[in-house]
Amino acid sequence: MAGEPQEDCLFCKIVEGHIPADVVRETETTVAFRDINPQAPTHVLVIPKVHYANAAELAAAEPQIAADVLREAQAVADEDKLDSYRIVFNTGTGAGQTVWHTHAHILGGRGMQWPPG
Ligand code: AMP
Ligand code: ZN
Repeated sequence: MAGEPQEDCLFCKIVEGHIPADVVRETETTVAFRDINPQAPTHVLVIPKVHYANAAELAAAEPQIAADVLREAQAVADEDKLDSYRIVFNTGTGAGQTVWHTHAHILGGRGMQWPPG
């Protein structure tokens, strides 16, 4: 069912505590943990505890939780004392999505290029 934990989902396993993660923040609806393969001095993933494949599906089904993810992005940036940061939601294989559970990449602590690669 939509939003329910998926047996084969890595991030559902992190939410359930079945796989360890370097958790930096947790709320009733979200978990934030450091990316295992960091692309910047701060590289944190903020995920909803509910399972949706991407940001758009989360926003359509649970807009309040989508807002919670964005609020947590700012909280992560505040904790790492970032004035500037980038939020990325890779959506689809062509954009580099590899985990099919909504996640915001919070990247900061170095200069950022535009356009992105
Ligand atoms: P994406 O490619 O946008 O789907 O992002 C998935 C991200 O999850 C990548 O940046 C991976 O480095 C990261 N990742 C994969 N496995 C883990 C893990 N066990 N703990 C933390 N981050 C992970
Ligand atoms: Zn999941």
